[in-house]
Amino acid sequence: MKSPVVLKTIAEMIQWRRSVVDQSVGFVPTMGALHEGHASLLKKSGDENDITVLSIFVNPTQFNQTQDLAKYPRTWDEDIRCATAEGVDAVFYPSFTDMYPDNYIFSVHENDFSHLLCGASRPGHFQGVLTIVLKLINLVQPQKVYMGEKDYQQLHLIKKMVQALFLPTQIIGCPTIRNADGLALSSRNTRLSDDERDRSSLIYKTITTAANTTEAKTILEKAGFKIDYLVDIENRRYAAVYVGDVRLIDNVPL
Ligand code: AMP
Repeated sequence: MKSPVVLKTIAEMIQWRRSVVDQSVGFVPTMGALHEGHASLLKKSGDENDITVLSIFVNPTQFNQTQDLAKYPRTWDEDIRCATAEGVDAVFYPSFTDMYPDNYIFSVHENDFSHLLCGASRPGHFQGVLTIVLKLINLVQPQKVYMGEKDYQQLHLIKKMVQALFLPTQIIGCPTIRNADGLALSSRNTRLSDDERDRSSLIYKTITTAANTTEAKTILEKAGFKIDYLVDIENRRYAAVYVGDVRLIDNVPL
């Protein structure tokens, strides 16, 4: 297995991109701490493109709590092993100053769906997400970008941004990968105790089986979870639930 080339600056990224100008490029943006969910995106990109680029950038502008940013897991060696196993060609690993030469004076605002759900609980979150994804797409210039339905609101907003700003790239939504018990894989799951992880499978079970959101909330609250939101919007049920101090999100089609 061949290790991916690691591109640590914008200049390196631009120069490398020129060397694959005739090939189709698939792109998987992440914040690292890779798991099988990310691997599924990399696999799909590998199947559908000549070249696959993975980015690893823990984006400070999308964290509204510094504690959450500080606690975000960083697992570089494992991430490179995963990227190698999935046949990734290049890993883009830029610094904050590289990605924000303007120190975040310029940003992307969406004035509708981004204010609901995660946007309501995490002010400024989607402004940070949309801004970094736009910057990454501009640098990587992929034909296709692979993103998880696990973050369905994010996926929807990025599809809308690509349409609104005429970006020449296609956003491809990929199914949520789950543990056998239903818990959606997330980098945040590593912060749960064994007991919390076992109990957290109730979140998926409940949002898929409860007749309505009131019933779902009652079941989860009785089990000791704190609900951030649990709502149905356009044939999809979205939930954000605190397990101890870890906030987990999930969603299912209705
Ligand atoms: P992040 O975990 O924030 O670095 O996410 C990077 C990408 O992986 C996003 O497009 C996520 O939606 C996607 N992703 C994260 N967890 C999963 C999962 N369990 N199944 C599928 N995709 C996922």
